[in-house]
Amino acid sequence: MSNSEYIKPTLIGLSPADLGNAFAALGVPEKARRMRSAQVWNWLYARGSAGIDQMTTLSKELRGQLAESHSLARPEIVTEQVSSDGTRKWLLRLLPDKPGGQGPLIETVYIPEPSRGTLCLSSQVGCTLTCTFCHTGTQKLVRNLSPGEIVGQIMLARDRIGDWVGVEADDPTGLPEVERKITNIVLMGMGEPLYNFEHVRDAMAIASASDGLAFSKRRITLSTSGVVPEIPRWGEEANTMLAISLHAVRDELRDELVPINRKWPIAELLEACRQYPSLSNAKRITFEYVMLKDVNDSISDAKELVRLLKGIPAKINLIPFNPWPGAPYECSTWEQIETFAEVVNRAGYASPVRSPRGRDIMAACGQLKSESVKKRASELRTEVSVS
Ligand code: SAH
Ligand code: SF4
Repeated sequence: MSNSEYIKPTLIGLSPADLGNAFAALGVPEKARRMRSAQVWNWLYARGSAGIDQMTTLSKELRGQLAESHSLARPEIVTEQVSSDGTRKWLLRLLPDKPGGQGPLIETVYIPEPSRGTLCLSSQVGCTLTCTFCHTGTQKLVRNLSPGEIVGQIMLARDRIGDWVGVEADDPTGLPEVERKITNIVLMGMGEPLYNFEHVRDAMAIASASDGLAFSKRRITLSTSGVVPEIPRWGEEANTMLAISLHAVRDELRDELVPINRKWPIAELLEACRQYPSLSNAKRITFEYVMLKDVNDSISDAKELVRLLKGIPAKINLIPFNPWPGAPYECSTWEQIETFAEVVNRAGYASPVRSPRGRDIMAACGQLKSESVKKRASELRTEVSVS
């Protein structure tokens, strides 16, 4: 499809109210707008309809009118890589905002396992924050994704892996043996989702609506570097699962690794976590901890981590550092990661080691950067959860 076909605004990502307004603009009487919006919503999110002309519960005339002003465009696939283990990575070009323009690039990753499949979404092009170990943080161009661009990543992934009723994947490599191929969503791609609060919230409302994409909020995880004031607001307005990029247990070091810590230090961040609504053993906060050799990987760091998290229903995700050209860190040795994990285990946490995913296509959540020359290899993540 050429870019010019993408110019019409897409219906994907519009709230029911926005859809109602679109029908109002077409002269649909007020009392019929709600029903029309619900019909479009059903075609879009329950059936994965790829064309307005397929929406046969709308009259032919109305379909024609709607297609004059709107499209169902998803982001455009620049490359699709399918790993031998089934991991898929898409380099996507966002729709241009003016005729003849070229939208910026983002990445979306799908990680299948036998009984589940996780889709890792980007929330921004680049990131305004500058965590020193993160490649996305070095990207200059930054803009927020719209709700349609966030939901569009889910739609596109579902198209490609045949996750709609009656649709087959072009390439079934490694897909889970369950009915739904995408069971979990993580906001761990490019960007800081809490700095694009409204759009991410509105997109997740569509993702979790029972008449929308119908993902349980328990299966949606937002990862944040620690935008403390937005955490209670996210709890109130979205209340998905939460992951915190902790990475250091002392403010001095965290100030350096995750500079947002200078604004909102560890104690404030953990207090916001304690207050997060409806935490329980079944609903824990995930703390992400990237393993950096001789920087944050000592036994005393591990002990302090356990001490800090006491009383918070938590999981700990140890992430081997994924190096990139010019990165000022190395990944901890495997031995050191195991030693670190052992301390955490002894404190009552179990540590199932996940096998490396998508290595051959260099896919990994949280370390995405769209320029292809700057891609780098993925590493495995070690998930440590309370037993
Ligand atoms: N901005 C959000 C979400 C995107 S980053 C956040 O920071 O939480 C998702 C995860 O990937 C974060 O935990 C981030 O710290 C981690 N990450 C970033 N770069 C990495 C790298 N080079 N190696 C390993 N993990 C990395
Ligand atoms: Fe941004 Fe997250 Fe990367 Fe930090 S780790 S620069 S917050 S994407």
